[in-house]
Amino acid sequence: MKDNVTSDQLKVKYRYMFAGPNIGLDMYDGWTQFLAQACAEIDAILGENKRRFHFSQIKEKYGSARYYYDSESLGSEELQRIQTLLDQAELATETACMLCGSPATIEKHGGWFLCLCTAHADEHRDRISARRSGLGV
Ligand SMILES: [Zn+2]
Repeated sequence: MKDNVTSDQLKVKYRYMFAGPNIGLDMYDGWTQFLAQACAEIDAILGENKRRFHFSQIKEKYGSARYYYDSESLGSEELQRIQTLLDQAELATETACMLCGSPATIEKHGGWFLCLCTAHADEHRDRISARRSGLGV
């Protein structure tokens, strides 16, 4: 992993992106490296007026991340660039372990699609067979 920033550190660094109205920001540390890179580039695109952008929801769906945002008074070119950055970040989460960021694949675990590396998938499988319950990542 080239960037070990945690979700909490990211929220502090780009507070304005995470402080606006949202319906839930579920972030996984294995994926934060991709979001951190997108945030740095979005921050540069926004320039002086940081209030024009914030995340409205971050969640995991079918084993990869989804990033939703609200933006005010952004030009279509800026929006296009931001959308591309977040699309790339979402795509990257499809092949990185949500827990540690190592190479991973999306598989169904106990009824849930999760993106886990071999080690975490084994660990999770053991836990599921032990308890047969819920997500419990
Ligand atoms: Zn892992």
